[in-house]
Amino acid sequence: MIGFTSFLSNHTVVQTLKRAVQPGGRLNHAYLLHGTAGTGKKTLARIFAAGLLCTAEMDRPCGECTACRKVEKDIHPDLIVVRPPEGKSMITVDQVRALREEVHLRPNEGRYRVVLIEGAEKMNISASNALLKVLEEPPPYLVFVLTADNRTLLPETIASRCICLELCDVSPLQAEKWLVRQFPDEDPSVIDEALFCGGGNLGRCAGYLKKDGAAAGFQMAVKLLQSLATGREYDVLEALSPLDGDRDAFIRLLTDVDRLAAESAKAAFLPQSRVLSLVPRFSPTRAIQVRELGDDLRSRLTLNGNLSLLLGYYCAELRNIMERTV
Ligand SMILES: [Zn+2]
Repeated sequence: MIGFTSFLSNHTVVQTLKRAVQPGGRLNHAYLLHGTAGTGKKTLARIFAAGLLCTAEMDRPCGECTACRKVEKDIHPDLIVVRPPEGKSMITVDQVRALREEVHLRPNEGRYRVVLIEGAEKMNISASNALLKVLEEPPPYLVFVLTADNRTLLPETIASRCICLELCDVSPLQAEKWLVRQFPDEDPSVIDEALFCGGGNLGRCAGYLKKDGAAAGFQMAVKLLQSLATGREYDVLEALSPLDGDRDAFIRLLTDVDRLAAESAKAAFLPQSRVLSLVPRFSPTRAIQVRELGDDLRSRLTLNGNLSLLLGYYCAELRNIMERTV
């Protein structure tokens, strides 16, 4: 059942959105939910949309009225969802132009029309400019909810018109409780593996258990870091071969590599840590350099940079980091 109570942690963000949808609440015309992939931005955006369209007198979204159910099933006529088309990596200007036509129609059933733009940083410049026109002077019944993994890739002209709310990972303990509740039939040792793979990132933990490629991606990251330690170029390329032109898988790999390097740097203070049985020891400086390289690559990949060139660049830069004495 859709509702704010099911959303873990991120208390301030949840309260801000919850208050805004109650009767008499202060509602802005645009919100930007940003934070690492897997922190629940799309889930929270939908709960918020349900709150805006819910027909209950209070405690919106109630989760039980027809409007709430329609939002949950993605069939509410006043909820418009925009995301990159199937098989494409960017939101196009044509999609935003079509949206601009549509938002001039008044709500069908609810008090508002809600526009949910998933992966807003994937709009190219013309799409952003087209959106800006309607963001600047929206009809009074329109509420925008944008989600973005990386806020810095969104033009400031767009971000500055939104209430920006950042979502973070939850604590490992909260993640464990959540996984046990969501996957009651799963073996505890498998839950442990998922937690090790995803840390406090619920999306990655759940992905591991749903076998959506998160586990394979994590293994690829482990193999990549192991092969860097051997210094053999062939090993590095072989470790990355399963990526096979998959941009999203590359972005996920960067996050796994960042996290493993950071955990390895922390392991000096945590003798029980399992991470050193998998990957070489990283100094804090090296882990930071890996993170900065990952941030750079994530931005370029999101902005449609050439995949194979970026892969080659990533391997070369990782080797440079490993060869420097730090
Ligand atoms: Zn409701």
